[in-house]
Amino acid sequence: MEPLVYIVAVIVFVGLGLLLNHERRQARKLIKRSKELEHLSSKLLRASRMQNEFLANVSHELRTPLNAIVGFVDLLREGVYGDLAPRQVKPVERIEASANHLRHLVDQILDLAKMAAGRLDVHTEILDVRPFILDVASEVESLVNEKDLSLSLTMGSGLPRIRTDPTHFRQILVNLIGNAVKYTDKGTIVVRTRVIPGSEALALGMPGDLSALGQPEATWLCVQVVDPGIGIVLADQERIFEEFEQVEAGPRVDSPNRGTGLGLAISRRLARLLGGDLTLVSEIERGSTFSLWLPIHDYDLAVSPQYTPDAR
Ligand code: ADP
Repeated sequence: MEPLVYIVAVIVFVGLGLLLNHERRQARKLIKRSKELEHLSSKLLRASRMQNEFLANVSHELRTPLNAIVGFVDLLREGVYGDLAPRQVKPVERIEASANHLRHLVDQILDLAKMAAGRLDVHTEILDVRPFILDVASEVESLVNEKDLSLSLTMGSGLPRIRTDPTHFRQILVNLIGNAVKYTDKGTIVVRTRVIPGSEALALGMPGDLSALGQPEATWLCVQVVDPGIGIVLADQERIFEEFEQVEAGPRVDSPNRGTGLGLAISRRLARLLGGDLTLVSEIERGSTFSLWLPIHDYDLAVSPQYTPDAR
């Protein structure tokens, strides 16, 4: 019996040794692989940083000559260098529209590159929501009137103050209203501003992951831009928030109002940078509702003497 025990012990011992050896080899392989991955990921990070820096630098360098083109074409059109011959008016207008489009595109690429590099600053201040929305509405009024549309503002009288970045907030709203105008032929564009308690926000379309971000009890400011325009099919509703994505871009390519396909991508990123989000509900031929969600913190409510919880 004893030799048998001895043999089994040797076999177990050898087996364990082999297993250990195998494990060691596997561990060495894993360490090597993870080092390779680390190396690759730092290379990728560096490449992406360089790409963003390149984009930011190129956009920056393009801006100066573009501003000069836009400025001089403007002077030409205004007749500062003498009256234009009737045949010259249209081409000069085309140059102006194209230069403006290009400048807008360059500005947007610069914004995106800065965001991707984490270099877009957020300067928050305490903002009185009601006068702010009125101010944005007066900024876009001429745009709305040009197309014979009307703009209606719906908001309670007791909206709070919120702490946010007014430049980014304004950029999002101007872009949303600009789109509503672009993609609507007749009717009224409504900007509806409401305060929504956390408990109701999910049911009203706030993205679930915002409440998971640790603020289930937070109160939200929800600014909706509602248009009765062409609408967006369900299949395109996520895609249009990605860079350079447009719906039916083809027929619009020659229009002086053609977009860049970057506005919504930037707006959603800005909304997220401000701790909120941008969502969409739309139905083809019936119109679209874009909702901007911004968090309202308790200290915002504390500095809002005019705010009443039922001001919705
Ligand atoms: P663009 O500069 O082309 O408007 P955006 O990123 O702002 O770029 O929008 C992307 C696409 O989403 C647009 O090309 C358009 O097809 C669609 N879109 C945006 N807003 C609306 C809207 N209010 N109604 C219908 N379609 C819209």
